Amino acid sequence: MNSPETLETADASSRTVETDAAQQVLQRVFGYDSFRGLQREIVEQVVSGGDALVLMPTGGGKSLCYQIPALVRPGVGVVISPLIALMQDQVDALTALGVRAGFLNSTQYPDERRTVEAQFVAGELDLLYLAPERLKLESTADLLDRGKVSVFAIDEAHCVSQWGHDFRPDYLALSVLHERWPDVPRIALTATATEATRREIAERLDLTGAKHFVAGFDRPNIQYRIEPKNRADQQLLSFIRTEHPGEAGIVYCLSRNSVERTAEFLCRNGIDAVPYHAGLDARTRATNQSRFLREDGLIVVATIAFGMGIDKPDVRFVAHLDLPKSVEGYYQETGRAGRDGLPSTAWMVYGLNDVVQQRKMIDSSEGDAAHRRQLQLHLDAMLALCETVQCRRTQLLNYFGQSGDTCGNCDTCLNPPESWDGTVAAQKVLSTVLRLKRERGQSFGAGHIVDILLGKSNPKVLQHKHNELKVFGVGADLRDTEWRGVIRQLLAQGLLAVHGEYGVLTLTEASDEVLFKKRTVHMRREPERVKPPRAAKAKASRLAAAELAPAAAGLFEQLRTWRASVAKEQGVPAYVVFHDATLRDIVGRAPANLAELGGISGIGENKLAKYGEGVLEVVAGFDGGSSSEPTSRPSRPERPAAPRGGTSSARSHTERARPATRSRFEAAEPAPPSDSMNWDVPEADFEPPPDDFY
Ligand code: ADP
Ligand code: ZN
Repeated sequence: MNSPETLETADASSRTVETDAAQQVLQRVFGYDSFRGLQREIVEQVVSGGDALVLMPTGGGKSLCYQIPALVRPGVGVVISPLIALMQDQVDALTALGVRAGFLNSTQYPDERRTVEAQFVAGELDLLYLAPERLKLESTADLLDRGKVSVFAIDEAHCVSQWGHDFRPDYLALSVLHERWPDVPRIALTATATEATRREIAERLDLTGAKHFVAGFDRPNIQYRIEPKNRADQQLLSFIRTEHPGEAGIVYCLSRNSVERTAEFLCRNGIDAVPYHAGLDARTRATNQSRFLREDGLIVVATIAFGMGIDKPDVRFVAHLDLPKSVEGYYQETGRAGRDGLPSTAWMVYGLNDVVQQRKMIDSSEGDAAHRRQLQLHLDAMLALCETVQCRRTQLLNYFGQSGDTCGNCDTCLNPPESWDGTVAAQKVLSTVLRLKRERGQSFGAGHIVDILLGKSNPKVLQHKHNELKVFGVGADLRDTEWRGVIRQLLAQGLLAVHGEYGVLTLTEASDEVLFKKRTVHMRREPERVKPPRAAKAKASRLAAAELAPAAAGLFEQLRTWRASVAKEQGVPAYVVFHDATLRDIVGRAPANLAELGGISGIGENKLAKYGEGVLEVVAGFDGGSSSEPTSRPSRPERPAAPRGGTSSARSHTERARPATRSRFEAAEPAPPSDSMNWDVPEADFEPPPDDFY
């Protein structure tokens, strides 16, 4: 057993040797000077044969935690990942670093699979990626027995949690790893987990004896904002135009229909966007995902079927047009913004209709009462986040069992909402619902209740003689949208309930307290018009180029052009070649030779050999780029040495480039069978009615 106690007393000198080896790999292969946060401890634990459960936010650097042990320990590291559609990208990124990686999945031709299997058995791989369903096959287990496994890494480990948002039944079978290969250390990693989910992961994966590493969950570079929903698509358009023009982002919608509609709407308005949902055919999905990863500034409009494992570092915003079902889901999805640490926005619009829809979905969901109760709890936590008058970040961190001070970088910090005593308003709504029921035996949706309160003599009101009710017109003190806000908050606080297909409002036990015992109800008043955040923050999203002096920005752009052509030629995303942060460093230091270039973070041995000359040519050929004076030469020639030197030099080093027919750039795979897709969820393709439906 790998109990933590035995590990703590492991021979100190051997640990030093292992630590040295890990440090060397970090520098030589990845080109990084030092470990970040808990990485060193985690790597030490696994390298020395111990098990680990790692909770780290997206962008925290989880991959190194298993990749380095796989490179240091003898044998092949086996990575269990639910992300079939991304395995090729993961392997490409490792190959670019000179790491020998492969995968086995159903998108491959049999001969490709056999080649990888042979490489595994011969120990010619450092890392092998597998989907959990494949690991369940006896033939896969036999294969693993024929080679030597150095470590099992269980990525996206929250998929084992049945109550979580990404449950993947095949993950349950991963508990066999320990029984069948007791000497192989296991490391499970996830970016989302409450205390309860962490316990569940540990139990289900038989990792209770493992050492647990819980990193801070804060993502300080992400600005959280939740705004009242009016006309969601127009709001989205103005958000993108004013804050993130030309930048990459993900827009989440609940239904396939709204995904399609929103993507079309953006395109009609001159914004590049592609749809992604489980109802699209595999090829379209693959193409759209691939374009999102490879092209600069593309927006993907998607259901939650999209995104897990997408490690594109420069996603500048994540927008939600519908309310996510849980805080875990929300945090996971928003976490896909800004993995590169640069300023990014998590933006959401939310309205009464979201609450009504979600409650209806829970009512009609399959599963037992306990399951529905669980869904209800998840929704309540999400609603509490939406309605809070406190710092959103603090509330999020508290939800994950961590503390945080008010952040200064969320909407409630930047533009604090007022809180008001909504008791009388609440009583007006509740007594309208009560009178309709008592006096007429009727129930209605929110829209009609608001019409009664406002005293609108519309046909529906007249038809039912609701103008004769005592409450008719008692709500002239608030506007339509304000009443909708009141009803939304009553629903969120459990002081009203919603039922049935038409979303009729009914009272709850707690309603009585407000109606008869005068329980005070605090409400949030939305700022009239949500002020855009501080200009510096919003614009900082274009930090990559903006912060640089004009001359430096010119060189940065040329390096990006060079990178784009190299990436295209190799059929890999641009960030696989170099991250923006590395290009910025190159600009800042203007290296004159390979040795200087090799000292830059993110440039390991292999990338130096492969791209070094090309980069140096761009830098040397840049007219005035080494000068730090603010030169203003607007009409610099567009295409200097970059594409020429860059591509030829890169080509001479692309020893492992795949044949063009297999490039996912063209999405030319055979029609993928069973497990070929990203983990996908069955989703109701309901079309939410417009927000003013009720
Ligand atoms: P996660 O899987 O936790 O979301 P990644 O493993 O993708 O995070 O790492 C996020 C980013 O941080 C990547 O660009 C990675 O190269 C970078 N990174 C990770 N560890 C280090 C380190 N020790 N030094 C510098 N950069 C690092
Ligand atoms: Zn805040």
